Amino acid sequence: MEFSSAILIETMKECSSTNTNLNTNANTNTNLNTNANSKVISNTNTNMYSNTNTNTNMNMNMNIIVIENANELRKLKNSELDFRIKSLARQERELLTQVLHVIKEIDNRRLYLEMGYSSLFAYLSESVGYSPASAQRRIDAARLLNEIPSLSEKIESGEIHLTQACMIQMAAREIKRTRQINVSTDDKIDLLSSLSGKNQRDTEKQVAQYFDMPVMQKTIEKTQADDSVRLEITLTKSQYDKLKQAQALVSHAVPINQITDFIEYVSDKVIKQKTGTKNKTIFGASSAAVVACKDLRNSKTEINLTTLVDSTHQTNSMPNIPKGFSSKIKKEILSRHSSCQYRDPKTHKLCGSNWFLQVDHKHSLWAGGNNQLENANVLCSRHNNLKYRREAHLK
Ligand SMILES: [Zn+2]
Repeated sequence: MEFSSAILIETMKECSSTNTNLNTNANTNTNLNTNANSKVISNTNTNMYSNTNTNTNMNMNMNIIVIENANELRKLKNSELDFRIKSLARQERELLTQVLHVIKEIDNRRLYLEMGYSSLFAYLSESVGYSPASAQRRIDAARLLNEIPSLSEKIESGEIHLTQACMIQMAAREIKRTRQINVSTDDKIDLLSSLSGKNQRDTEKQVAQYFDMPVMQKTIEKTQADDSVRLEITLTKSQYDKLKQAQALVSHAVPINQITDFIEYVSDKVIKQKTGTKNKTIFGASSAAVVACKDLRNSKTEINLTTLVDSTHQTNSMPNIPKGFSSKIKKEILSRHSSCQYRDPKTHKLCGSNWFLQVDHKHSLWAGGNNQLENANVLCSRHNNLKYRREAHLK
């Protein structure tokens, strides 16, 4: 069961840090009455079972128990340790399903946008404190839970692990990307039922067979001591062939056959084209190109490179409304702000995303705004959309 142990270690660390928040959630989730029984065994309590003895329901897994003194653990018999780890694992799964329900609600409200984050991923990793991989797994599972409510019981019982839910969602995204097909909820339910109790390797095989696709390899991204980033990606044969063809086509400009140099060269071209900013490239001397790939993984659903969209396109066809900003003004404002300038009105937290940037009118054209530089602002597409929905009084 190496599959579950990896999750266990990760969420065990999270358990201790989330413990203090439990009471604040107690009124918002009907399942959170578990917290009413929360107890802390101090080092003066030598009997680990004393809490359950006072609980008439003998509902051991309803207690959140922390043993503060490691010496207490050393005194336990082997059978007691075995009982304890199983009990904690049960509590951990219950807590996890509660976390997923809360994330689902935050996602449905798009609360993260109002708070100045460009995505749920950014919110969970920057504000809540999850690692990127942990945040992505929880998002995938929470969104699957939104589609399949019975997933909650499957995760709580240990029948299905977080990583399995994540694999289903990854496969669905890949199918959408490569075949332009939305995987139906019925197919996901069908696949889910065949994954019960399977380990990671068997799950990968089963998912691949079910959708008739290659076994999916996860992208691995590690920040190293010098802030360079080690990135491991898997390309399909077609993607790899395209990469090699493109490398050959620019071999006059990138003489050394290094993929990192090629990525940097292409990145510079895109940055210059979109912003007018010229970056000096010294091949082999910088890891900037690899760093530039960092957000690719964090924005799986937005895999295209930075897309600059004139947000006024929706209004251009309307009579008596001037056209959007000139290219000069767009380049000027983008040279001043290379990221989204949305701020949470309460906390003033800046979004700062540099994905899908749009040059926006602070004062909208339809409301009498103009195309002068002073009226220009840079927003990511999601915050531009939030602004539009607010102005249009859409929910
Ligand atoms: Zn933004």
